[in-house]
This record gives sequence, C-alpha cells and structure tokens, in this order.
Amino acid sequence: MSKRAYNFNAGPAALPLEVLERAQAQFVDFQGTGMSIMEMSHRGKVYEGVHNEAASRLLNLLGNPEGYKVLFLQGGASTQFAMLPMNLLTEGKTAGYVKTGSWANKAVKEAKLIGETFVAASSEEDKYMSIPDVSNLVLPENAAYLHITSNETIEGTQFGQYPDTGSVPLIADMSSDILCRPFDLTQFGMVYAGAQKNLGPSGVTVVIAREELLTNSPKHLPTIFRYDTHLDNNSLYNTPPSFSIYMVNEVLKWIEEQGSLEGIEKKNREKANLLYDAIDNSGGFFRGCADVASRSLMNVTFRLASEDLEKQFIKESEQEGFVGLKGHRSVGGLRASIYNAVPYESIKALVEFMEQFQKKNG
Ligand code: PMP
Repeated sequence: MSKRAYNFNAGPAALPLEVLERAQAQFVDFQGTGMSIMEMSHRGKVYEGVHNEAASRLLNLLGNPEGYKVLFLQGGASTQFAMLPMNLLTEGKTAGYVKTGSWANKAVKEAKLIGETFVAASSEEDKYMSIPDVSNLVLPENAAYLHITSNETIEGTQFGQYPDTGSVPLIADMSSDILCRPFDLTQFGMVYAGAQKNLGPSGVTVVIAREELLTNSPKHLPTIFRYDTHLDNNSLYNTPPSFSIYMVNEVLKWIEEQGSLEGIEKKNREKANLLYDAIDNSGGFFRGCADVASRSLMNVTFRLASEDLEKQFIKESEQEGFVGLKGHRSVGGLRASIYNAVPYESIKALVEFMEQFQKKNG
C-alpha cells in the first residue's frame, strides 16, 4: 500500500483509511449491481437505501430525538448562510448572531441581505481569539433564531457550553466540529454542516432540524431554496450528490465502530491534549493563538516567533510528509486541523517534528 500523508488539511480533510478502502472495494460493482453507486439512478431502490440509511444513522448517533429531520443539500455551508434567513427570517422578525470569527461573520453578512439582524454577543474586541460569554443572553421577542458557529475553523476556537435560548430556536453552523463529541440535539432548532471535515467528502451539506422549522418557507421563495421542498421530497427533489452521501453513510458507520460519539470524543481529547501540551510545554517557542478556555478540539492554531520561522517550519514539515499546516491566509501562522479521522499517530509524529524543529532553532 502507498504511504499515507500526515494530513492536517482544514477541509476537504483526512478521511478514515478504513472508509476509503471499503469504498475502493465497492467502487466498480456496488452490491452486485454491476455498476458503481455513481452510475445508478437516484430514484432506484439501491441508492435510496443508502440515502435513507445515512439519514437514519445520523439521527441515531444523536439519540433519535422526536421531531427532527435530516436534509442532504448542495452548495456548501455557504449556501446555508443564505438559505437559513431566506426561509426563517421573515417580515417583522430579527435574527441574532454570535460573532465569533471569520465564519460567523460570513453568516451574518448574508442574513443582513435578507432582513433585520442583531449581534447577540461578540468576541471582536478579543480579535476573535475567544468565545464570548453567552450564559445570560437577552433575546428580543421577535427573534426568529439565534445563530452560532460552534467551531471557528480559522481562529481555532470552539464553544464549550451552548447558550440556552428558551423558545427562540438555536441554530448552529457545525461545519468544522459536527460529531466530534456528543451533543444534545434538542437544544437546537437546526444544525448544519458541510460534510468535508468530519462527515465525508465535499459536495453535500447536512441539515438536521426540527420539522416545524422546515415547513414555513415564505411563498415567494424559489422552489430549490425552500426547506419545505427538500423536506417534502426526502432530499430527492433534484439529483442529490449521491457519491458524497454514500461516503457520509460509510463515515457514520466508522464513527459507530469507534464507540460512537463518546468514543470519538475520548480520542479527540487525547489528540488535542497531546498537541496543546506540546505547544504549552515549549517554553514559549510555540504559542497557542486561542484563549485556553476557548481552544478548539478540531483546529489547533499556533505561532512561532517570526513569520520567517513559520515559513521555515512549513517548508521543513512538508519535506517530512506533513500536509496542511499553514494557517488560513487571512490570519497567517500555523494550524493543524485534527478532525475525527486524523489518527493519533499523525499528531504524535507532528509533536516529534515540532520538538526536533525547536532543538534546531530554539
Ligand atoms: N462554516 C465553517 C465553520 C467552515 O469551516 C466552512 C468551510 N471551511 C464554511 C462554513 C463554508 O463551507 P463551504 O465551503 O462548504 O461553503
């Protein structure tokens, strides 16, 4: 077998090797049909079986709470930034946003194009290096929803405690941390995530929502942008990204095999602790960017003393087989994305590389 890279890409990102190998084994002839899953009708029994299995597996992992539905949509989480207010931010309402960083800001920018918004909390003053206190939010009565970004992929921060929004639906962009740990879905009206970090390949966006939030799309909305269209048609109104959905189903099976979300969380904590400890024990050679209490389990952002040294780190890391350690172009620095499928061994190798690098340059 060819050597796998130490893959720290932010997304699309590492997938479990077992999943890739299973997909490979099924690639040419899926379940004896004589064709790959990509070559068959999305209206046929075989594909529909996979499609429905992926949706029910996802709900199962989240404890199957009453009244929640799964949609498989296209256009990435970025499309949800617009589709959410188009469907729910109706006349006379306002939508609350917690401004935690780059992705939260993109979400609110789209909502402003549709209707009234307000900032419920922000960590802008802290340069988005922390998650703001959301324990005592006061929301207006006409709030359509409160939107949070559960994990800021670029800054490397993550919510610990989610806000209690009472009767106002809490909605989360969970693109970069969905299924990294157990969470109580019933706290949320809706969560959505592009698949390409923790769920599978790019091409499909998962929406999990309380059914009543999906049934009241304004009359004037074009068919394809309406949540009710996709709900009424089991996400088969038009051709779905069938291969991506098949891969999501395989990744969900793999999560079950890891001990479900409890097992995944345990592994993620071990992985994150290993890397944050290496940063914190470097005597200031490596410096973590995010506030310690707001640190992400998924995206570890850190810096070196100078940009030149960071460039050297990236160059040498690439020569050693490490991929994706360059920070996002908007913030610079370094970032290791350690999603569910990144093995402990990759992080161990990274920590060893960091120690060697410090020995030579410290
Ligand atoms: N939200 C978050 C938190 C993200 O990390 C990303 C992608 N990196 C997006 C939204 C945008 O996702 P997409 O490219 O699927 O539109």
